[in-house]
Amino acid sequence: RPAVGVLALQGDVREHLAALDAAGAEATAVRRAEELAAVEALVIPGGESTTMSNLAVAFGLLEPLRARIAEGMPAYGSCAGMIMLADKILDGRADQRTLGGIDMTVRRNAFGRQNESFEAVVEVAGVGPVEGVFIRAPWVESVGAGVEVLARLTDGTVVAVRQGNLLATSFHPELTGDHRVHRLFVEMVRARRAD
Ligand code: GLN
Repeated sequence: RPAVGVLALQGDVREHLAALDAAGAEATAVRRAEELAAVEALVIPGGESTTMSNLAVAFGLLEPLRARIAEGMPAYGSCAGMIMLADKILDGRADQRTLGGIDMTVRRNAFGRQNESFEAVVEVAGVGPVEGVFIRAPWVESVGAGVEVLARLTDGTVVAVRQGNLLATSFHPELTGDHRVHRLFVEMVRARRAD
């Protein structure tokens, strides 16, 4: 079973650990640099990206995380995790940092107040229709040429992308009991091993 960490500074860590376990990974919580060094891939959970950014700095994890991503470590971010994987963010807090890695611009809290939370069926390329749970979710405002769009809402809004070994969704598959997106990620981890 591939060793997949879940960044456990803040957010829905337990739900991702359970989903990864169901998807065939050996899932562990990652809070320290030594724990990061022991995993071959990482999930960045949903939660609050400004808090996650502060804690990553406070725990001395920002640079180790950036270095692993630059080396090609597979990573998957849901919601706040998508924000963390974005090269650029809009409506972020002034001192907010991201890990980056995906050549995209993501808008925080993009769906606005009335629509802070909603569910929609989302057709994800390579996975099929999934129940998308959106909670004060970001959307992808623009992507670079190397980024594959995996899902759009019916109005065209981009809500799932992949670039190389990096995967990101605006929504939270870890909250639905449907593990197909996590299985896709575990497959990406296995494929990288076979390289
Ligand atoms: N709005 C949150 C942020 O900016 C993300 C919400 C979520 O992860 N459910 O980080």
